[in-house]
Amino acid sequence: MMNAEQYEQSLRKLNLVVYLFGERLSNVVDNPLLRPSMNAVAATYELAHRPEYEDLLTVASHLTGRKINRFCHIHQNAGDLVKKTKMGRLLGSLTACCFQRCVGMDALNALSIATYDIDKKYGSEYNKRFLDYLEYVQEKDLVCDGAMTDVKGDRARAPHEQDDPDMYLHVVETLKDGIVVRGAKAHQTGAVNSHEIIVMPTIALREEDKDYAVAFALPSDTEGITYIIGRQSCDLRKLEEGLIDRGNQYYGGHEALVVFDNVFVPWERVFMFREYEFAGALVEYFASYHRQSYACKVGVGDVLIGATQTIAEYNGVEKASHVKDKIIEMNHLNETLFCGSLACAAEGHCKASGTYMVNTLLANVCKQNVTRFPYEIARLAQDIAGGLVVTLPSEKDLHSPEVGKWIKKYYRTKTGIPMDHRMRILRLIENITMGTAAVGYLTESMHGAGSPQAQRIMIAREVDMSLKQKNAKILSGIEKR
Ligand code: SF4
Ligand code: FE
Repeated sequence: MMNAEQYEQSLRKLNLVVYLFGERLSNVVDNPLLRPSMNAVAATYELAHRPEYEDLLTVASHLTGRKINRFCHIHQNAGDLVKKTKMGRLLGSLTACCFQRCVGMDALNALSIATYDIDKKYGSEYNKRFLDYLEYVQEKDLVCDGAMTDVKGDRARAPHEQDDPDMYLHVVETLKDGIVVRGAKAHQTGAVNSHEIIVMPTIALREEDKDYAVAFALPSDTEGITYIIGRQSCDLRKLEEGLIDRGNQYYGGHEALVVFDNVFVPWERVFMFREYEFAGALVEYFASYHRQSYACKVGVGDVLIGATQTIAEYNGVEKASHVKDKIIEMNHLNETLFCGSLACAAEGHCKASGTYMVNTLLANVCKQNVTRFPYEIARLAQDIAGGLVVTLPSEKDLHSPEVGKWIKKYYRTKTGIPMDHRMRILRLIENITMGTAAVGYLTESMHGAGSPQAQRIMIAREVDMSLKQKNAKILSGIEKR
């Protein structure tokens, strides 16, 4: 397993084509806007070497028996799935942002199931290819970016009906030694902190769309791949002097649009090729795993609740009954999210490939709650924190020889609370509820791993309605016992 330093050095060896503010970056790792997101992934390496986290963050590979980082692991039992949930919460609580590495873990697990199922039907060799690839990823301890979301163009039309056929990533050429693909994947979490990119279809597909039924993995710096970094609210604060106004001094996340412009994929890296009838299942596996992964939001919620309690104490309102009650409500909502992620893990089941899959219904219930509760937790945090979250002057004003004294005088609260402490905790609340970290805590909670309606469709599909009706009819005497 790599440590944080080795991970950073491994990224320096990549030759990624990354654009930010219209210019190509010559040094991605040290870019001040991206550096906090690299730090967050590095934490998944660093913490895996700490004895107290060994049980959650490391595991024996089912392929080699060697100790690997859990982010590279294929879940072998429900206990593995439960540890995955706990790992997500732990890392969320230690970084207060998206640490990016779960998408690759979820893609690997989804492919371990789908490749096996395709082989069973067609006698193909996708699962063997996949397992060779998996061993490589485990041995090198790599970060994989899971790339599912196509840009989708006109949502009312199927992939082959689009004005521009590249609105969904597809095969454009089949060669003797591989395939050529074109298209783009949007919202790619942690894209430029990844060694590998794993591409999967984004929706269930029909025969007319079989060229879109393609899954593969490539080194992230493969020729023809371009990354265009997405903006985040308040991102330019990372370029300012001083750290207080950033809120989170160490960590952050990033997303990118990833363009595949006629990219060659060798056959040994292709895990699905035109088996369109398996696209829907692969999407569902990945989505369900990632809906479980949102235990990370519970960890971020832990930090937000801690920050809210702290500002309540700094402001001298922590004993007010409504403040206490609001913090209880925040905890209740946060722990309810944790329950959902734990439950779908504990209720996991073994697929034919041997991989453990979460309970789909409960994973969707978990994610449906994630689309709502962080917003309410954020609302309560802002309620308790007060208006200063959005009207606070800058760190530079705090240090100004002219006006710093007025800030210290007029924004003081309890005796013994330094002004900068109050400022720091307010900025952290701002960061999580409306700054750079709100990308992960709020909007990504809404749309990541599928927007709310996607989970409602799955919930409707997964519940056993006929059993519910049968019981009701028996108990009311409509049907016999
Ligand atoms: Fe992992 Fe959460 Fe980031 Fe998704 S949003 S990659 S689950 S930390
Ligand atoms: Fe996500």
